[in-house]
Order: sequence, then C-alpha cells, then structure tokens
Amino acid sequence: MPTQVTFSRNVFIPLTNACRNRCHYCGFRSENPRLMNPLEVEDLLRMAKNAKEALFTFGEKSEVYKSVKKSLSSLGYGSFLDYVVEMNRKAIELGKLPHTNAGVLSYSEIKKLKPWNASLGLMLEQAVELPCHVESPGKKPEERIRMIKDAGKLEIPFTTGILVGIGESFEEDLYSLEVIAELHSNYDHIQECIIQNFSPKEGTPMEDWEPPSTERLLKLVREARKILPKDVEVQIPPNLVQDIRPFLNAGARDIGGISEVTIDHINPEAPWPSIEKIERSLNGEFVLKERLPVYPKYIKRRWYGVMCESLIDKLSDGNGYAKLEVSEV
Ligand code: SF4
Repeated sequence: MPTQVTFSRNVFIPLTNACRNRCHYCGFRSENPRLMNPLEVEDLLRMAKNAKEALFTFGEKSEVYKSVKKSLSSLGYGSFLDYVVEMNRKAIELGKLPHTNAGVLSYSEIKKLKPWNASLGLMLEQAVELPCHVESPGKKPEERIRMIKDAGKLEIPFTTGILVGIGESFEEDLYSLEVIAELHSNYDHIQECIIQNFSPKEGTPMEDWEPPSTERLLKLVREARKILPKDVEVQIPPNLVQDIRPFLNAGARDIGGISEVTIDHINPEAPWPSIEKIERSLNGEFVLKERLPVYPKYIKRRWYGVMCESLIDKLSDGNGYAKLEVSEV
C-alpha cells in the first residue's frame, strides 16, 4: 500500500508587503509598500476555482507605514486587522477556508481572527536570537513562542515550523524543534511543522549566503520525526527542494499548500510543481491526499473558527479530508 502524503489546494493572497521587520534574507517586504484592494482579493479568490484554502500571508504590523494607514482609511477600515477579517469573510463567502499568517499578534488580535479562520500560522523560525533578525522586533523568540502559546490557549489549529540555514547551528535547529514539541505537548494544537530551507534572494544582505545542503535538511527531517509528537506532521515545501521523495522517505508526510493561480510570493524564484507532476514523481510509493487547511483531528474536535463551520461541512469528506467532488458552494 502506498503511504499517504497530504497537501492543500490553496490560493496565496499577499494582502500587503509592508512589514515592520527587516529580516536580512527577506525579498518580500518593500519600503514602498502596497495594499491589495478588495477587488483584487476577490478576483484572486474567484480565479482559484479548485482552491479550498485562502492563504492570507503578509508583512507584520503594516500600519507602521502611513501609506498603508491612509489606504485602509480610504477603503473605510479602522485597522488592518478589520480589513483582514473582512477579506477572511469574503473568502468564506466565495467557498475558500481562510488560513492567516499575520506575523506576531496579541492575544486579543488572535481572538478576533479565530472565528474567521480554519487555522492560523506563524513560523517559529528559530528559538534563538540570530544576527539576521537584529532589525526585526517580531522575530524575538519569546514573542513568537508567546503567540504560539496564546493560539493554543484559544484552541486554534496551528501551523508553525523552522527556517533552516539563517545562521543557526544544527543543534539550534534541534532545540527549536524541541520548543515546538513542548508547545504541542502543552496545548495539543500544532497540526504541522514546516522544515523550510533558506533560499537566498538577490538584493538582500544575505544574497551570497549558501543555502543549507540537502543532507542537512534530510537529517533534520529525520530528527524532527523523532523529536515531534507523532500527531504533528512534518511538512516540506515541494518548490524549495529538488526532489521531494528522499524527504518523504525520511518521514515528511505533508507538502503544504499548492497554489495553481499564484506564485509563491515569499520565494518567487521557486515555482510550485503541478500536483500531477508531484504525483508522477512519487512512483507509486506514496499517494497524494488532499486535505483542508485544518487537519482531520481538529475538524473532529471542532476547533476551527465558527464562521467556517458550514463550509467545512461542505468541503470535507467523512474522514476530515477534502471532498473531491464539491457542488457549487
Ligand atoms: S521575512 Fe517576513 S517578517 Fe521578515 S521582513 Fe520579510 S515579511 Fe517581514
């Protein structure tokens, strides 16, 4: 029997590239940021006919930019979070389950997003301070750990992970995985842990850095499988590695979201392979299974946002995975 590997069909919505942080590897943020307007968001949601997940990913605390504040107020929103909630609502109306990665949020901000999201995410990245984060207040490990804990207290299915090769040692990678394992042991809310490799971006302070080797990543996936509780899946992004199969053999069982109508805005140089291409490369040893942005375990527990409930009922099969034939939502 082939081993099951899960993925989600998503549409990537980068609401803004404004960000208060300045991570030395980032090619996403801009000093002249822009805000997607509601019509652009709606167009993307409509275009992504097969997507069941709306992935909202954007810079942290964008309102530090006056231009963003001005755009928000001209659209009639008092805060960026109000705008996010409205776009989450629009996604649900158009049949997509929101999963929002908003950067570090306070407890009350997470609580505000909860009803409108199937799950939320924040990469831990690393549980240690690193030189590449000296200009990024949002990358303070204690802040990120606090947010992941808060999401646990609020019973929110959560995606996190580590970013590998940004100046940390292998032992620090292991320590970061241990921190994630402990967070899950305390709150039981982490559905998946991404092992993401740093990929250098032109024009950034780290453009000449060597990305981590495949051997190091494979070793980490093996270690992650030992360190993380069994019910936390290890995820590998298929557009950032040459061949996904060795990673599946090492214990990864999820390949994350694949967007058929947008690029990976964080790694625009790395196009997603098509689902068909991935499937062919698995040689019958593994089989792809479509999931929703909330894992079956948390669907059974009803930990998703209450406003997502009827859409989840419509999009999920009896086992909590994605229903393949979905009538007009
Ligand atoms: S990596 Fe994320 S948090 Fe860091 S500067 Fe870029 S958008 Fe901001």
